[in-house]
Amino acid sequence: MMKKICFATNNKHKLEEVKHILTDFEIISLDELGCFDELEETQPTLEGNSLQKASFIFDHYKIPCFADDTGLEVETLQGAPGVYSARYAGEQKKSEDNINLLLKNLQGQVNRKAQFRTVITVMGLGETKTFEGVIKGIITETKKGTDGFGYDPIFQPEGYTKTFAEMTMAEKNKVSHRALAVEKLVAFLKDIQ
Ligand code: IMP
Repeated sequence: MMKKICFATNNKHKLEEVKHILTDFEIISLDELGCFDELEETQPTLEGNSLQKASFIFDHYKIPCFADDTGLEVETLQGAPGVYSARYAGEQKKSEDNINLLLKNLQGQVNRKAQFRTVITVMGLGETKTFEGVIKGIITETKKGTDGFGYDPIFQPEGYTKTFAEMTMAEKNKVSHRALAVEKLVAFLKDIQ
């Protein structure tokens, strides 16, 4: 039987992306675990938030688990929105509003360099470990594409002419911040098996 691991999210896009990479484990979402709490993300760093979410699940459910936190770091905004990416335009956490605010704040800006950074913390399988994945790119002038989620319609990875939202999931998974972090997680899990 496949070993189970909880991915501390209910984001169906994230779950689908990760299930395609982490294939040796049965991945359980928060809903499937029976956890209906909104997990707190009150730390000042991506590392802190991913540890906070993973610790909550491990402490309450005693199941191997991992949690991710992602930030979009824009060079000319000194790394903002960063750890506040989800609530950049307010506590309602609406991607449409976040995108519109970011495009407004970058209006007329020539330097549109940005990076997505994901941090994953895994607990309950050997020592607690943290993995990072980074993808560099630019913020486009307008929204392009309808796939993906979050800031995907305005993020174009380096070396590509398409935004993440114009890519298939397989294309995004070849280069994305989350995929890179999950690949490191997969290597760690292979080592300890
Ligand atoms: P969190 O990791 O779910 O807290 O994500 C923080 C913010 O970044 C949210 O607004 C997400 O929608 C956004 N985000 C996270 N991962 C991605 C991604 O792969 N593409 C685009 N936006 C993302």
